[in-house]
Amino acid sequence: MAELLATDKTISCVKQIIREAKQRLVIVTFSIQINETILKYLKDANLNKVKISIIHGGEVGKYRLERLLGDLRNISVYWHPKLHAKFYFNEKRMVVTSMNLTDLPQHDNIELGILLTRDQDGEIYGEVIREFLRIRKFSAKIKYRGYCIRCRKELKLNYVRPYCRDCYRIWAEYKNPNYLEKYCHECGEQVFLTLEPIPICRACQEGGVP
Ligand SMILES: [Zn+2]
Ligand SMILES: [Zn+2]
Repeated sequence: MAELLATDKTISCVKQIIREAKQRLVIVTFSIQINETILKYLKDANLNKVKISIIHGGEVGKYRLERLLGDLRNISVYWHPKLHAKFYFNEKRMVVTSMNLTDLPQHDNIELGILLTRDQDGEIYGEVIREFLRIRKFSAKIKYRGYCIRCRKELKLNYVRPYCRDCYRIWAEYKNPNYLEKYCHECGEQVFLTLEPIPICRACQEGGVP
């Protein structure tokens, strides 16, 4: 049955949900900050092929987050400008709470949460999942992987240096930001573009995350 959680219990239940996810993990939070412990859990889950979705409403383009999540292939990160809800669930347990992911592992605020289990609270569990799917549908997917704009090799998104190692070495001999390159850094489509002002195609510019 649903259980009311005070601050400490909310924190430990959210950590447990992230740590024990076996098939799916959903993190919905307004602000996001990933500490070493959470990063380790996420990396383990990623290795175990858990499908991870994170939706946040905070600032996009924080380099630390991008660096941390850039290598995790089973993780999808979304952003919604109006998101202020917070809930966390895996295939078994769910916490709907006032607490942001930023606030792990401990902090001074007073939080409340409701713990739900799929077995015993199936109906409302399903309703929260449907709400999650609805929010996700209207969220922008944030990309952390991109393509070398000269040879289309896959690499981390990096608008300042969108080249693989080999191509960068050649580019660095001339350092010409107006040299005509061949692929969009975000979607990999073949298109003529230059490093500056931004090495992505028009479609990605228009559909991109602000
Ligand atoms: Zn290349
Ligand atoms: Zn593109």
